[in-house]
Amino acid sequence: MTNSLVFVLNCGSSSLKFALVDSKTEHQILSGLADSLGSTSPFLKVKYNGNKETIDLASGTMHQGAIDTLVSLLEEYKLDDAIIAIGHRVVHGGEKFKSSALITAEILSEIDQVSQLAPLHNPANIVGIKAAQQAFASLPQVAVFDTAFHQTIPEHAYLYALPYSLYKEQGIRRYGFHGTSHYYVTQQAAKMLNKPVDQTNIICAHLGNGASVTAIANGLSVDTSMGLTPLEGLVMGTRCGDIDPAINNYLVQNLGYSQTQVTDLFNKKSGLLGISELSNDCRLIEEAANDGHAGAQLALDIFCYRLAKYIASYTVPLGELDAVVFTGGIGENSDVIRANVLALLKIFGFTIDHQANLDARFGKAGFINGSTGPKAIVIPTDEELVIARDAIRLTASLEQ
Ligand code: ADP
Repeated sequence: MTNSLVFVLNCGSSSLKFALVDSKTEHQILSGLADSLGSTSPFLKVKYNGNKETIDLASGTMHQGAIDTLVSLLEEYKLDDAIIAIGHRVVHGGEKFKSSALITAEILSEIDQVSQLAPLHNPANIVGIKAAQQAFASLPQVAVFDTAFHQTIPEHAYLYALPYSLYKEQGIRRYGFHGTSHYYVTQQAAKMLNKPVDQTNIICAHLGNGASVTAIANGLSVDTSMGLTPLEGLVMGTRCGDIDPAINNYLVQNLGYSQTQVTDLFNKKSGLLGISELSNDCRLIEEAANDGHAGAQLALDIFCYRLAKYIASYTVPLGELDAVVFTGGIGENSDVIRANVLALLKIFGFTIDHQANLDARFGKAGFINGSTGPKAIVIPTDEELVIARDAIRLTASLEQ
């Protein structure tokens, strides 16, 4: 194995997604997930060479333990020596990070300072960085921020209509997330549209467990649906997206919720799960809706309606629209949701090619629009590749 591998890590509070990307071929040669960390039955799933393996971890194992187990596995597969850099997905970079950064003690402390804007996300990223620094002490580590791509959004789009001092003094504004995915998809869309990126105008819907839409003008993010945190915007798997902020107060004052319970309700018990009272998993919701489950159908209807409204509103910051693009687990696989959303946007002239819509699933990119109206494209995202490329780029600058 040549020395060209980047180990990409994405740490959540109780999970850790990872991939080993060969920077020469740009292929993932190993990937997987450690989940239920800190619980009585944490486990590690690894995909390598076409084989899938599940390893039970000791009760209470956290990120450090999972990474240590992974390192042993990489040694067993004789891959450890070929790793030349570690790339970390970091959720919030605030206004400080407009691009990826080589992690030094100073950078880590700056990521820590941003944590107050993302208390549910950044602390887990920091734990992951520290664990990786212990496990791979001699390797350069790079942070790639979910917010960075959105730093081109203009002030009139990122400011909330709150007292200006809350922005100036406390940094309360819309930051946006999924930037790595929106960036990657924009580059791919430009290729498929046969246009230079800096002349590409798209609306990109990243629909996974978390979901966001971004308006991209001349290759740059000019508006996005997530806000100070990833809670704002679309209906998501378990997050509510946009709601009247007074609901918070109502739950606390009239229904006796604590602030922690409200945060938990908005982040973990709402969205597709909350409406359907069934699941946050879009596949299950679609199956249940097919079988006549009214809650599942309602969840899908609300999901599509909110998404279509956002896409319609993002024609405002774009001078022209080259295409609407779908990505993320739902965007890449759900022909049903794509067809419903394009139907809701018929005022813009969208039509759909139903066979092309069925064909563009399970990792296949393609145009799904009919012969008239604006274009609609499905593009599988690859955040790990962007992180690996940035890790290589910044590591190379270190060597000069
Ligand atoms: P994450 O945000 O955790 O990375 P993904 O991008 O993997 O999530 O997306 C997960 C979502 O994609 C889940 O709701 C899952 O049900 C949905 N999904 C995956 N495959 C399909 C499919 N064939 N049809 C509909 N939804 C799907």
